[in-house]
Amino acid sequence: MDIKAAKSSANILDGRHLARQVRDSLAERIKASGRTINLHAILVGDDGSAALYAQNQERMCSQVGIEYRLHSVDVSRGQAGLVELIQLLNADDQVDAIMMHMPLPDGFDSERMQALIDPAKDVEGVNPANIGNIVYGRRSLVPCTALACMELIESTGISLPGARCVIVGASNIVGKPVAVLLMQAEATVISTNKYTDQLGAITKTADVLVAAAGVTGLVTAEMVKPGTIVIDVGINRVMDDDGTARTVGDVDFDSVSQIAGHISPVPGGVGPMTVAMLLKNTVDAAGI
Ligand code: NAD
Repeated sequence: MDIKAAKSSANILDGRHLARQVRDSLAERIKASGRTINLHAILVGDDGSAALYAQNQERMCSQVGIEYRLHSVDVSRGQAGLVELIQLLNADDQVDAIMMHMPLPDGFDSERMQALIDPAKDVEGVNPANIGNIVYGRRSLVPCTALACMELIESTGISLPGARCVIVGASNIVGKPVAVLLMQAEATVISTNKYTDQLGAITKTADVLVAAAGVTGLVTAEMVKPGTIVIDVGINRVMDDDGTARTVGDVDFDSVSQIAGHISPVPGGVGPMTVAMLLKNTVDAAGI
């Protein structure tokens, strides 16, 4: 979407612009530290989209001065081979950060593998110890998309204590950590899911509305209070009548942007900020 051309009365939360600012400040931080920082990525098997994502990560890392090392694991090495690699990277003092591309091939226990990553190097925040630390308000590596939502919300200047925040979707990787982070910020938080009754009546009370359900057009204008901050996490592929494929979020942007105070677009909102937060977590994990 051409963000500048989008017609709306809401302020558009431009994730690309914010992400650029984050990258610039990380690049300065790394330069000032005089250190070399690295991110070790694990890719098991030959998933094409994960390989593409890895290329993109490498490019982003090099822009800020992070060394990106991709470890490709042949499926024939099995889960035991993956365990061995994770343990090797955990034990290596020269390794600052570790992330593992998903999905793992059939037969691999993803949750078990994620839980093996050293929490201090777990830059995607997928080890349960990290979400536990968030709950206790301790220093922690937070899942990147949840962190991206928080940065976008905070960029509006809203005072979160007492603000009413409604999260649509309660997955381990997005909805739940966003809810916990907002609770930590002393907001009033309502977590909703696919069983929630009268969703619209609840979302309409929100000062901050985060949509992370993966359902095209789930949030419509009738479900939003005027002036609300709307963060759209959804990534859904839709086909236009002429057969062109497009990426859209969970929010009906055209109608909701007419009444929201701030809105993050899809694409160009949470997505670019998520990648920037991976870089930020890497720099944080390196302790500079
Ligand atoms: P998920 O499928 O793991 O969880 C979806 C959640 O939404 C569940 O809690 C479910 O109960 C809830 N839900 C589903 N339908 C609902 C409905 N009709 N009303 C209310 N709640 C409903 O999904 P996920 O991994 O959290 O991803 C959610 C969306 O966010 C997807 O579109 C995904 O592609 C996108 N996503 C984007 C990024 C990014 O970087 N921008 C990162 C992760 C996920």
